[in-house]
Amino acid sequence: MKSAPFAYYDPRTIGEVVGLLASRENAMILAGGQSLVPMLNLRVVFPDHVIDLNRVAGLDRVELTGDVLRVGAMARQHVLEAHPDVKARAPILTDALRQVGHFQTRSRGTFGGSLCHLDPAAELPGIAALYDATLHVEGTNGRRDIPIADWPQDLMTPNLTSDEVLLAASLSLWPQPHGYAFIEFARRQGDFAIAGVGALLTLNADDVITRCAIIVVGMGARPIRLAAAERLLVGAAPTADAFTAAAATARAYEALSDLHASTSYRQHLASVLTRRALEQAVFRCRELRNVHA
Ligand code: FAD
Repeated sequence: MKSAPFAYYDPRTIGEVVGLLASRENAMILAGGQSLVPMLNLRVVFPDHVIDLNRVAGLDRVELTGDVLRVGAMARQHVLEAHPDVKARAPILTDALRQVGHFQTRSRGTFGGSLCHLDPAAELPGIAALYDATLHVEGTNGRRDIPIADWPQDLMTPNLTSDEVLLAASLSLWPQPHGYAFIEFARRQGDFAIAGVGALLTLNADDVITRCAIIVVGMGARPIRLAAAERLLVGAAPTADAFTAAAATARAYEALSDLHASTSYRQHLASVLTRRALEQAVFRCRELRNVHA
């Protein structure tokens, strides 16, 4: 199929983008097009106006300042995947990016597009939630900084008014060394995950967990922070029993049911992947601690 007719604009500045969004009813933004174009062609969406960000300068910057990684909305997923600062300071983002679609889609797909498309199984909103990201948007009322927890309003509905555009996201990185793991289960390589889990943790010299963050994607409309599991683990030794108890808390969350998986299957999968992610994160933490010693 082909898309319904629409007017196309390729502005050069954010001011122009905001002006177009404010003056055009039923407008949509085009970033990498890896979700929007299929939706246009399948007539899932039929905007009257499409505003292309690809020629707006400066939206693709990736800047590390201390412990804050600021990722521009138009940063291509494959650029982030290969970025040395990301590999060195946010290796879980590198891990997760390798599981986003295919190299071909990552060469066009953007960080901001994934955050705005907000597919429940998307890895990048999950990583943003792990790093307590702040999202920076601009509209006719100026700029807003939105905590990631307030970003999903509903299923695939970001906290954006019709005249706002996402500029960037700032991720609060963890000090080194820390353990990390992003594990997901998809029917085929490159498919959206049925469920995925990301885990970060740190150990002290006595091998006790001092900090922990766990996120599940694919379960609900938004990434789910396993807060109960995190509370169980901080201050505990990283034993199999501790991980099994923490992982079991994943079953308590509501989960989507669709043609790919039932609610109970997703809850079971989230629990299994949580335990595996914690095991991998501890293993890496110990390895990195020896390297940094
Ligand atoms: P677009 O498709 O251009 O836009 C997506 C949506 O976000 C649109 O509604 C658009 O209006 C809005 N938007 C984009 N940028 C902004 C902005 N700056 N401000 C406001 N609104 C904005 N994704 C995964 O997470 N995991 C996967 O496993 C995965 N597998 C895929 C497999 C295939 C075959 C394909 C084609 C895609 C897959 N994707 C997957 C989706 C892909 O990652 C897209 O890149 C991503 O979902 C959207 O990014 P984009 O830059 O292409 O955005």
